[in-house]
Amino acid sequence: MRIPIIAGNWKMNKTVDEAVAFVKEIKDQLPPAAQLQTALAAPTLCLMPMMHAAAGSPLKLMAENCFYKNAGAYTGETSPFALYQAGIHHVILGHSERRKYFHEDDELINKKVKAALDNGLCPIVCCDDTMGRRIAKDDKVHWVVGRILADLKGLSPNDIRKVTVAYEPSWAIGSGQSADPDQAEEGCYLIRQTISDMYGDAVADDVRILYGGSVTPENTSALMATADIDGVLVGADSLDAKTFLEIVNH
Ligand code: 13P
Repeated sequence: MRIPIIAGNWKMNKTVDEAVAFVKEIKDQLPPAAQLQTALAAPTLCLMPMMHAAAGSPLKLMAENCFYKNAGAYTGETSPFALYQAGIHHVILGHSERRKYFHEDDELINKKVKAALDNGLCPIVCCDDTMGRRIAKDDKVHWVVGRILADLKGLSPNDIRKVTVAYEPSWAIGSGQSADPDQAEEGCYLIRQTISDMYGDAVADDVRILYGGSVTPENTSALMATADIDGVLVGADSLDAKTFLEIVNH
């Protein structure tokens, strides 16, 4: 049984004061985590003050990135070990903006995924559909297969269960043009099939797969009603507390 997730990705938005005010506004209006998990990925600077503000609420806080080393001379990077010790137990890795603006490739993301898991963090691994195309055995074009194989290479079945995958077609991110539920379901289904090919059905059935790209209060229900979409990763519409709550209460 996969518990659905509504997660916001704030990207490089909000000051510490704005972030704390947001958490205070929503924290008492969230459903129990056993029913629907709610999470916010926020700039590193905001995470600790947000965690204190969220105390006692089901809201989970997530980092938007981390490095693959725990400590050392890596100016400007965030340690997965330090994140975990601070109480931040989730991290987004491989977002298409990291790939586009910071030239992160699958090899680097795979190292980060492994380091996150080694430190007890649960990674949300983003997968777009612009690369990694290949013709699968059944002759259907599988856009996402190559990327998932590369980003999750070498993980144990136990580790893969701690991973959440986010299918985020880059053309849908920030464009106002969400994938329709059939397209989004197709991408998420392919991801689950790929994980099933790698680890078997029982493992694939446990892995949560999210859709991201222009999610709004209006399209959340239809997306989440599909078989393989277990939740949404929301950018712009997670920045306003009322709109985020509308998505939570879709
Ligand atoms: P938008 O919801 O703004 O399209 O962003 C999606 C996204 O990048 C979530 O990670």
